[in-house]
Amino acid sequence: MNNTLGIDIGGTTIKSAIVSKGKIVSIVYIQRTGAKKGTKAVLNDIFLSINAFEDYFSDGRIRSIGIGSPGPLDWKTGKIIASVNIPLNGVNLVSFVKNHVRNRFKRNVKVLLDNDARCFVFAEALHGAGKNHSCVAGYTLGTGVGGGIIHNKKICHGMGAAGELGHVKINAINGRRCHCGRIGCLEAYASSYGIVQTAKEHGLKVKDPEELYEIAKGLKKSGGNKKNKAKKVFEETGAYMGMAISNLIAVEHPEIIIIGGNISNAWGFMGRSIINSARKYSITGKMPKITRASLKYGGIIGAAGLAD
Ligand SMILES: [Zn+2]
Repeated sequence: MNNTLGIDIGGTTIKSAIVSKGKIVSIVYIQRTGAKKGTKAVLNDIFLSINAFEDYFSDGRIRSIGIGSPGPLDWKTGKIIASVNIPLNGVNLVSFVKNHVRNRFKRNVKVLLDNDARCFVFAEALHGAGKNHSCVAGYTLGTGVGGGIIHNKKICHGMGAAGELGHVKINAINGRRCHCGRIGCLEAYASSYGIVQTAKEHGLKVKDPEELYEIAKGLKKSGGNKKNKAKKVFEETGAYMGMAISNLIAVEHPEIIIIGGNISNAWGFMGRSIINSARKYSITGKMPKITRASLKYGGIIGAAGLAD
């Protein structure tokens, strides 16, 4: 049986599991990321997420490891180029992981790396909502906005930056500044910090989209018309998403667009607005299916898929 260890590295946690034919066949090991403690601590956290599957390495049941990590990164060489939330800049993660497995388990394994959002879309394209489609695109809405484009079950890299859908411009003249340093990226509107900013512009002070979601749902006591305002913020976020999606349609016209990340939990407040706005701005009336992610651990499954 072909077992691969999939590792999904995030700013808060590292998740890993054994994947076989697109299914998780082990426990999911979750390790907190010591991102504030520096490079060595994070590498150690990654090693712990590998060591948790010691038995599989010892008897040779794992021959490959796939890693999804925040980028930008060089998927060909395995090097992290720049990472805002995790101190791995300039680290060749593939070499470190290969050496760790060789030293600890006396095994040589194949190790592959790509960015976490691409891994998520890849998993959905292979085994999730996009499995019956040949041209698939997706977004992850979280701390930042990631993206990926999959053609015929292969990740589209172009010269390296293909699928960076969070940095498509929706207002580059007088828009907001993105964490990438540029003006008017989708991320500055549809990420956690983008949504907090939109909420602020509507007179709502929230620390994150989760709090906004609770207000919109009426789960959190809030005075006045805050509930309606919170809903409005999600609708506006959906409108920005739709604008970006109409650009994606003009370039790519994918058959399906899959949206994941923790902010997609507010799909009930955003979904309709995303779809309506995409239709409004689109060059064609032939709309792709726009839907939520379907896999619970897409990041792990997609990372493992890199090594298949
Ligand atoms: Zn940007």
